[in-house]
Amino acid sequence: MVAFCRAEDIPHEICGKLVVAVTSDEVPRLDELLRRGTANGLTGLRKLDRGKMKAVEPHVNGVAAAFVPEEGIVDYRQVCDRLAYRVKERGGNIITRAKVKRLDRKAGSWVVRTAAAEFEADFLINSAGLHCDRVAALAGEPRQVRIVPFRGEYFGLKKSAQHLVRNLIYPVPNPQFPFLGVHFTRQIHGGVEAGPNAVLAFSREGYRLSTINLRDLLDALLFPGLLRFLWKYPDMVRTEITQSFSKALFCRALQRLIPDIQPHDLVRGGAGVRAQALTSAGNLVQDFHLVVRENALHILNAPSPAATASLAIGDYVVSQIAA
Ligand SMILES: Cc1cc2nc3c(=O)[nH]c(=O)nc-3n(C[C@H](O)[C@H](O)[C@H](O)COP(=O)(O)OP(=O)(O)OC[C@H]3O[C@@H](n4cnc5c(N)ncnc54)[C@H](O)[C@@H]3O)c2cc1C
Repeated sequence: MVAFCRAEDIPHEICGKLVVAVTSDEVPRLDELLRRGTANGLTGLRKLDRGKMKAVEPHVNGVAAAFVPEEGIVDYRQVCDRLAYRVKERGGNIITRAKVKRLDRKAGSWVVRTAAAEFEADFLINSAGLHCDRVAALAGEPRQVRIVPFRGEYFGLKKSAQHLVRNLIYPVPNPQFPFLGVHFTRQIHGGVEAGPNAVLAFSREGYRLSTINLRDLLDALLFPGLLRFLWKYPDMVRTEITQSFSKALFCRALQRLIPDIQPHDLVRGGAGVRAQALTSAGNLVQDFHLVVRENALHILNAPSPAATASLAIGDYVVSQIAA
């Protein structure tokens, strides 16, 4: 991705990230992250004591941190624009507003009926994000995992508070909670985002609290995996909902990492919806999940960092098809 951004002149910056252990009981998990990062070939990864951590991010609260120098930020809209440009340049066609409605097999090929037109294809790649499980079902796949939408809401830091964050400040993931927790991200064109939370959405494209889609809601509520998930994490679900309504509570979660931040420093920002696959046992599918068939490949879970890893995932998809 970095090489692509360099070659295509896309604004990006390898600014490094701090992963912060706020309390001493988080240090063993931080050490495990460092061990895994090193095993996975990250370079320059190092553990910082409190003093060194504060030299990197002076306003951060914690006992130790991991510094990940290879992390960065990018203008991702431009990444998408350049990818689209390269596809078209090589003779590819990108057709939008073409919701897939039906998939049929005919003489060894796929007939894809969409809102825009009908297409025939030798091979089908389903990467329909929030609707990937439904598209897979249209192709005859059993719905073993279900996409349950979790909205992630952000606040922005007012200009007067942006000095509190230099680059990227993240918490150590806690295996007792299914999501990472709020963090701070400096943006490539200026500004700092704080978030996201993880609120169960009432619609797969529920970018606002008020967006309700009955089909999506029933689909989620009638899936035993969701009830098991809610049973396992009742406190987290309650906290996330209350934080979504209350700026003061959202701010309190942020203060764990930056105690100086105050509710008046925050302005409501945008939101995204995670296309998160859930198993019927109520567990989030943590890794990328690809199902390969003779004439089709379904990407049934591609959570963060699938944008960062998109080119690598693309290479993998191509290798699977070739195989
Ligand atoms: C709040 C938030 C923050 C994130 N932060 C990061 C980050 O910092 N770094 C990172 O790497 N990743 C991040 N991600 C994750 C990243 O956005 C996803 O992993 C990535 O977008 C997944 O790519 P995808 O191609 O599988 O799905 P998508 O990007 O969702 O693309 C799916 C496409 O399929 C189309 N589609 C859906 N249904 C149909 C249908 N029936 N017919 C036709 N087309 C259809 C959609 O319109 C869409 O264009 C974040 C996600 C969220 C929600």
